[in-house]
Amino acid sequence: MAEPERAQGEGEGWSFEALDEAARRMEADEAEQRAYEARCHARQQAEDAWVDEVVCEQEAIAAAKAAAKAAAGGARLASESGADESASHFSASLEVLGLCLTAEGAPQGGGRGVAARRPFAAGQVLLRAAPAAAVLREGAAATRCHHCFRRAASLRVCGGCRFSRYCGGAHQRLAWRSHRRECAMLQKTARRVPGASVRLLARLMQLGREAAAEEGGGGSWAQSAAAVWALRSQLGEQPEERRRAFEEQAAMLCALLHEIEPDSPPPSPRLGAELLSIISLNAHTIFDDELQDIGIGLYPIAALTNHSCAPSAVHTFDGDEIVLRSLSNLPAGSLVHIPYIELAECTPSRRAFLEEAYLFTCCCTRCSQVETADAVAAVKQAAADLRRSRELELAAIDSGNWGEALVHSRASCALAEKLYPVGAPALGLAKVRLGKLCAHAEQLEEAVRHWRAGLSILSISHGDASELVEQTARSLREVELELSVAHRAGGDE
Ligand SMILES: [Zn+2]
Ligand SMILES: [Zn+2]
Ligand SMILES: [Zn+2]
Repeated sequence: MAEPERAQGEGEGWSFEALDEAARRMEADEAEQRAYEARCHARQQAEDAWVDEVVCEQEAIAAAKAAAKAAAGGARLASESGADESASHFSASLEVLGLCLTAEGAPQGGGRGVAARRPFAAGQVLLRAAPAAAVLREGAAATRCHHCFRRAASLRVCGGCRFSRYCGGAHQRLAWRSHRRECAMLQKTARRVPGASVRLLARLMQLGREAAAEEGGGGSWAQSAAAVWALRSQLGEQPEERRRAFEEQAAMLCALLHEIEPDSPPPSPRLGAELLSIISLNAHTIFDDELQDIGIGLYPIAALTNHSCAPSAVHTFDGDEIVLRSLSNLPAGSLVHIPYIELAECTPSRRAFLEEAYLFTCCCTRCSQVETADAVAAVKQAAADLRRSRELELAAIDSGNWGEALVHSRASCALAEKLYPVGAPALGLAKVRLGKLCAHAEQLEEAVRHWRAGLSILSISHGDASELVEQTARSLREVELELSVAHRAGGDE
């Protein structure tokens, strides 16, 4: 504390003013000390409360998981031990399909994957599943039904949010239970519609609430919720920055959800962050027959299938359902692998992407091949060329410049053939598109060749009943007929 200043001209003594001033300063200092102690005390209390809250929240999460699992019937209660327990959840569902869980060749978290218990023929459906939750992306939201995800000539708009659209009253009614809370949320955010993964998170959080509210337990909501919770979140293994982003997004969404339903218990941001991690590692991009990205969905049973850059199976979508088919004849005991990523990339790029997005190092047959630096560089260049020629091809098609489109399409197809593994739907699609452009340019024999090659791939990956396969097969038959008539006419002359 500062010494009181001496009053001028008063020799040894202290002036009264100086003493008063000293007393005032002493009091002020003491008050400041008391305030500081009070602040420390308050901070300590807040920290204690926060710790209590976190513990409560963690207990609540564990209880929610346990309730969801118990509701689904028979499943063991939740523990964080992960693999074994979630394995038991899915075993029965896989067994019905002739599949099983296996620890063999599974580099991903949890050390499990899916294998065939019996032989499957090429193109045979391995599994078909509805999503636990799925949403359309903004780009597809105006042209597709938000219940069945199919295009429709006319769509009726939800009068509440003016965002969701339906192919008819039946689907609007069926969608209402999943859309009710989402609708209120969209009305709150007005014109700023949250991104697809946040809308998917909102639906998953709602799934938990509906499951808890379901009478008697074991209903469809509880089963979906239990399947979601049987997936591993690996939140703690996510890179710091991403984990923070998940926590922030979840906190924002939870605040919004609480604002909508202030009387219900507030949703847990920690649970939200875990779900966002589950989404990032397990959700599937939903695409249409032409492989255009239209949405995102969580299909717990399909999420058990591991990745390979040389996959034995492939997935497509029928509306919002995921369908897995074998790419070749699979003997009993074969591992079922699907591609998680674009496969027309060099090995270092594929591996880096998988490590970054899915937190595992790919050791598939393609990634394990020893390659020279020159070979890697050549593939990298070819992949860049393919992206470029595909862009030019699509731009030319959009602008109706058919001659140019044909040139780029031939280049894309040649590159795709080099870069994709056998049976990749992207290669089949490139061939079908090239066939179409050839037919347009009256190069009928070449069109027939590409269509046949394209169909032999797509009838396996998409199935014969897919609209794309049916349409292409019809065009092929017409052109074949035209050619045989011309051939006969030529022979008659
Ligand atoms: Zn519909
Ligand atoms: Zn709505
Ligand atoms: Zn690989």
